[in-house]
Amino acid sequence: MIPRIGFGYDIHRLELGRPLWLACIEIPHPSGLLGHSDGDAAAHAIADACLGAAGLGDIGENFSDHDPQWKGISGARLLDETVRRLRGRGFALRQVDLSILAEAPRIGPHRGAMIEALAGALGLPLPEVSVKARSNEGLDAVGRGEAIAAYAVVLLERHG
Ligand code: MG
Repeated sequence: MIPRIGFGYDIHRLELGRPLWLACIEIPHPSGLLGHSDGDAAAHAIADACLGAAGLGDIGENFSDHDPQWKGISGARLLDETVRRLRGRGFALRQVDLSILAEAPRIGPHRGAMIEALAGALGLPLPEVSVKARSNEGLDAVGRGEAIAAYAVVLLERHG
């Protein structure tokens, strides 16, 4: 088995009145993440990390904004499709470590549900999915509550 590490980052703007989808769950909140998709920055960071580790480019290349079949795509479907592409190239996803930066809502109460939803979408056992969160100490757009950002590191293995 050959290990491959991937890193991903994403940020989406918050807009009043949109549903908030984050790490494949919907969280009750006055604003949600803006995007061509459901705006799930956490799922996008993980997908980018997976694609990077496998040498498959990035989300933009794999799920183009201009392709109508990906319009409004959910984080869960994006991750499922990403893992399918990895498998097609002989890779297996083994582990995910996610960090979410958000001033609000508080992520702690939703952490368990996020881990379950991500593990389901990615086909991973629960202990192989880690979700961490922090505020941005009031600094920059995330700190002002105008956006939510996410960082992800993943481990893949390739046979042979
Ligand atoms: Mg994105």
